[in-house]
Amino acid sequence: MSTDSDCAELAGGRLDIDLAAIVANWRDLDRRSRPGRAAAVVKADAYGLGAARVVPALVAAGCETFFVALPAEGAAIRPHAAGARIFVLEGAHAGSVGVLRGHGLIPALASMDQVRLWAEKGGGAPCALQVDTGMNRLGLDVDEAVRLAGDGGLCARLTIVHLMSHFACADEPDDPLNRRQVETFRQAVAAFGDVESSLSNSAGVLGGGAFGHAITRPGIALYGGEAVNGLANPMRPVVRLDARIVQVRSARAGETVSYGAAHRLSRDSRIAIASVGYADGYPRSGSGAGVPLRDAVGEGHAGFVGGHRAPLLGRVTMDLTCFDVTDVPEEALAGGRIELIGPNRPLDDVARACGTIGYEILTGLGPRYRRRYPNESGH
Ligand SMILES: *Cc1c(COP(=O)(O)O)cnc(C)c1O
Repeated sequence: MSTDSDCAELAGGRLDIDLAAIVANWRDLDRRSRPGRAAAVVKADAYGLGAARVVPALVAAGCETFFVALPAEGAAIRPHAAGARIFVLEGAHAGSVGVLRGHGLIPALASMDQVRLWAEKGGGAPCALQVDTGMNRLGLDVDEAVRLAGDGGLCARLTIVHLMSHFACADEPDDPLNRRQVETFRQAVAAFGDVESSLSNSAGVLGGGAFGHAITRPGIALYGGEAVNGLANPMRPVVRLDARIVQVRSARAGETVSYGAAHRLSRDSRIAIASVGYADGYPRSGSGAGVPLRDAVGEGHAGFVGGHRAPLLGRVTMDLTCFDVTDVPEEALAGGRIELIGPNRPLDDVARACGTIGYEILTGLGPRYRRRYPNESGH
């Protein structure tokens, strides 16, 4: 009889998520936030890595504040963080008030309409206020925020426990917009007296700490991704992805590989067929020959077999991807696996190869992988 664990072994890829590294990264970011404290952004299922595993590890490490995007995400982590504050970044709307209040979630109110809604329907429960200082995404304009601060009647019906704003270009520390946002947000915060506040995302923390605010909101850096362009990434890597090699085949110089016959072999080759494809979130834009992006970003995906580099050949397909293992010794291939994200192939190298960012690779990691949490205790 076959068991679930037999099936797990047969998964196309094995995704190892290092909870101890996430905890170490949080502690590091928490130190960099002093005298403030680091919260943890765990939206999108903790950037694809599993909020149900990540949140308890961070709670055990002392993290007391979490940010999610949606009310349902907050409700899902509530059982793992009974005493924590959970902020919901999309704020509140008429349909979500019940869920927010039922799970003790704190909406980060994002417009005057939301403010009025919560004043009317929030029952005095805590809320946060988002102030837009240059992103033009969510939040009150600074003028609106200052006006609200002066509206005693409305404020009396709100328990505002937190003010937040969000950097547009913290990944480029020299962009003048950063400085302007710091100043603009300071004005808004001053209007509210001594309400707790936060501004920095990961890049903000790495570039300037908490900027005088009590809380920071790192996400990507917790999960080992690069936050600041051009800065050596000081975070511990978290994710390792190894795909199963389904077959190794030989092909002659002049033959072509994968859809569109886009790659023509320049030598007699050995080709490893890995059991991972774009349906697993291994983007097709990282294909070798045959995608327009290759004109702009020279190199596509590559894997490593026993530490030997194996460039991708042709196009990534839905379930399978072809790698050139001609130069890989037979002993290394005998392991039957190819490293696609890991010590030889950092997450952000994978992202660059397909013209995107580590955030998108992480949040796209598919459901077919066998997920393992080798350092479950987390500390
Ligand atoms: C996603 C998000 C963060 C976390 O950003 P990172 O760049 O991943 O650190 C912080 N604040 C807000 C408002 C966000 O939407």
